Amino acid sequence: MKQIVFISGKGGTGKSTVVASLSLLVKNKIMADCDVDAPNLHLLLSGKRQSEVDYFGAEEAVIDNATCISCGKCREVCRFDAISGNFEIQPMKCEGCGACMLACPVGAISMADVKTGQTYVDATQRGTFSHALLDIGAEGSGKLVTEVKENLFGFISGEEWAIVDGSPGIGCSVIASITGADAVVVVCEPTMSGQSDMERVLGVARHFGIPAFVCINKYTLNLRMTARIEYFCEINGFPVVGKISFEPEIVKALQKLQTPMEAGIQNVAREIERLWSVLKSELKK
Ligand code: SF4
Ligand code: SF4
Repeated sequence: MKQIVFISGKGGTGKSTVVASLSLLVKNKIMADCDVDAPNLHLLLSGKRQSEVDYFGAEEAVIDNATCISCGKCREVCRFDAISGNFEIQPMKCEGCGACMLACPVGAISMADVKTGQTYVDATQRGTFSHALLDIGAEGSGKLVTEVKENLFGFISGEEWAIVDGSPGIGCSVIASITGADAVVVVCEPTMSGQSDMERVLGVARHFGIPAFVCINKYTLNLRMTARIEYFCEINGFPVVGKISFEPEIVKALQKLQTPMEAGIQNVAREIERLWSVLKSELKK
């Protein structure tokens, strides 16, 4: 199985639209949405829920008041001011470092798991689909992304492809998204900031030795910037595998929860088909 992860330097470049379109085009695959902070691929891929599991990605201290002798040592060592004067943990401040537990002379403090999100696996008509949602304000998106991918690979049954909608940006959730990938495709827009974001995320892929390709979305909006991005990719060895036209009808299609293919936007559908064809031949090289 080959795992291809679509990423972008920031959100909103259209990578989920590309992945949703590929979900119609690519046969014999499994899919994942690793944007756990703001997932949206599930809106375009409805299916029957196979599993829905609470995710516990953090810990917080718990004080047993019956054992506590009010010595105050825990308050002295807590660098996050998370223990009140009457020795109660303030959950919003506790970082789960465990220092108070080590300092307590009578063993009154233990660490409890904290729910930080939920993971889902759906059986869709286009293949198994793993995704998750991080709770508002919760940390640890990278660990949750790893969980999404582990859930996905737990459902493998001989598929040829894993198509993954990666996290945007260059943080730890992106690194978790691209870990183990056979290739990444950076979806960018033809603007100065789009090129800058693309270069940063290509740098992440190159750092980890993962073959990286580029897709320029909405390229007809700025042909001069598109040419500039193509030149950058050529001299730096990042093949441009696709260019997708700007098409206002795509927004209307997405409002109806349709991909450009389902909405019959023929020119964009052909461009996405070409992207997949070029990408496949690049992967064979
Ligand atoms: S676990 Fe760390 S942050 Fe939380 S109360 Fe204890 S010392 Fe403070
Ligand atoms: S260190 Fe332990 S005994 Fe002392 S105040 Fe904190 S919880 Fe109570």
